[in-house]
Amino acid sequence: MAFEGLAERLQSTIKKITGKGKVSEQDIKEMSREIRLALLEADVNFKVVKDLINRIKERAVGQEVMESLTPGQQVIKIVRDELTELMGGENSKIAVADRPPTVIMMVGLQGAGKTTTTGKLANLLRKKHNRKPLLVACDVYRPAAIQQLETLGTQLNMPVFSLGTEANPVDIAKQAMDKAKEEHHDYVIIDTAGRLHVDSDLMNELAEIKAAVSPDEIFLVVDAMTGQDAVNVAESFNEQLDITGVVLTKLDGDTRGGAALSIKAVTDKPIKFAGMGEKLDQLEAFHPERMASRILGMGDVLSLIEKAQTNVDEQQAKALEEKMRSMSFTFDDFLEQMAQVKQMGPLDELLDMLPGAGKMKGLKNVQVDEKQLGQVEAIVKSMTKQERQEPSIINASRKKRIAKGSGTTVSQVNRLLKQFEDMKKMMKQMTNMQKGKGKKGRGG
Ligand code: GDP
Repeated sequence: MAFEGLAERLQSTIKKITGKGKVSEQDIKEMSREIRLALLEADVNFKVVKDLINRIKERAVGQEVMESLTPGQQVIKIVRDELTELMGGENSKIAVADRPPTVIMMVGLQGAGKTTTTGKLANLLRKKHNRKPLLVACDVYRPAAIQQLETLGTQLNMPVFSLGTEANPVDIAKQAMDKAKEEHHDYVIIDTAGRLHVDSDLMNELAEIKAAVSPDEIFLVVDAMTGQDAVNVAESFNEQLDITGVVLTKLDGDTRGGAALSIKAVTDKPIKFAGMGEKLDQLEAFHPERMASRILGMGDVLSLIEKAQTNVDEQQAKALEEKMRSMSFTFDDFLEQMAQVKQMGPLDELLDMLPGAGKMKGLKNVQVDEKQLGQVEAIVKSMTKQERQEPSIINASRKKRIAKGSGTTVSQVNRLLKQFEDMKKMMKQMTNMQKGKGKKGRGG
């Protein structure tokens, strides 16, 4: 999971302070020191860390904590607020030009995910906002880049404008604008060339394209895995081009977190989207508050529920959410949910969003495959109605009967019962978390 190391360290640090009835200045000092080290290790820019720690200390030592009834909780809230603030307010809006087409220019280093993100963004604009984008291939240095974009265009069934590798990128961009107007495209997304490092030729070319088409948005695509380096890259691009927003890619990988936590502070430009995988629908709005909660092990229940709602029948998802909250979740629901989970994507990805899920060893290795789902289904179906509602009555002889009925073994039945209990525990945590959530962060 992304931020794993950072999350683990921060969580063990704040755990020390959570339950305390009294928090001394010394406690805060120690906690701040540990948070500082954890952030530095996660490759967060040192100046950013310094400012953050100062703010946390200042607030934590202040009255708002010392006089509160639950100082430990209060401190964590401060840490969460400050992390949220650091990553910036929520802002996944895309500009709309007064006179179409709206022009979006994608910039970034080679391999950052520009071309992929161009496709994802086009997909999002069409799917969510009913737009009709034209994709433009301006990376003439890497022949494969044009082809890559054309392939994406075919997959998306969307037109791609290209003049091959011989043409000048500025001309391509200009001609693409004419074509977009002629064919009534309301968005033009320009995929530009990248280099392995920031260099002045590249910047000049990008500046020329910018001058030629006056983009409404310039999105810098940054690979979240590149840590500290990403910050330097973002700084240069921003200085030269005055970008309007950042897209962090590869947040599905095991990034340490440095880029996500530093970029906003250093460029003062919002992180608008996050790339969560290679597929064309894996671009999400970036939610700083949810990300902060996730890093602190408070889970990301909202994203999970949203995911459920986009992938699963909405009414079913609502009912499920209600059941989770009211704790009236039974094996019948479990069965139904297992089937739906398949549609939602890899289970480990979903588990990352659940509070405390990382610590539940039993759940960490759950893999949903067809065969296993079939077994689970068979086990649940071999239970009586009462057993499904009230699994606690399932004693040894019932287990034997269920195993026999489902063609499985008692240990498989046991495992399922255990998973079910773990799941319920998580739901309980989730419900408590929602209750204790308190006010929104300042930046949120
Ligand atoms: P470009 O050189 O900036 O245009 O980068 P590409 O779009 O070609 O992407 C480089 C590689 O990163 C490709 O293999 C992509 O599939 C991959 N990639 C892009 N975005 C993501 C993401 O959000 N998650 C993951 N896991 N891979 C990504």
